Amino acid sequence: MDPDRVGQVLLNLLHNAVKFSAEGGEVRVQAHMIAEDAGRPGPWLLVNVCDTGVGIPAQDLPRIFERFYKVDRARTRHVGGTGLGLAIAKHLVEGHGGRLWADSVEGRGSTFSFTLPVA
Ligand code: ADP
Repeated sequence: MDPDRVGQVLLNLLHNAVKFSAEGGEVRVQAHMIAEDAGRPGPWLLVNVCDTGVGIPAQDLPRIFERFYKVDRARTRHVGGTGLGLAIAKHLVEGHGGRLWADSVEGRGSTFSFTLPVA
């Protein structure tokens, strides 16, 4: 794998996790080896970046990986950002053959997960 690119993905997810969390929130990173990813035999590395931040409304969740898409600009105006980070991160992960996706509950937090093939 390309360590610089994978580092860029991780940094982007960590940056978002902190950016969309209030002071005193918690960000957790976990890494596991899994045998299968969406039916594709591995082994795969599964990385989760989990935060206790503002969360993402269900109707926005499928769109956050689009270029320039931002949830509720009024809500996040003060935190800035281009809306490009996740689109780039997804492109980089998929370029390695993996997947990147998000689970979230609005008001509770978000978990971003990605997989990478283990050679
Ligand atoms: P940016 O952070 O520059 O706005 P991204 O592509 O990284 O762009 O993220 C797109 C949008 O997805 C963000 O504007 C935000 O609305 C939402 N988002 C991303 N990560 C999180 C997160 N950890 N918690 C809540 N919302 C998030």
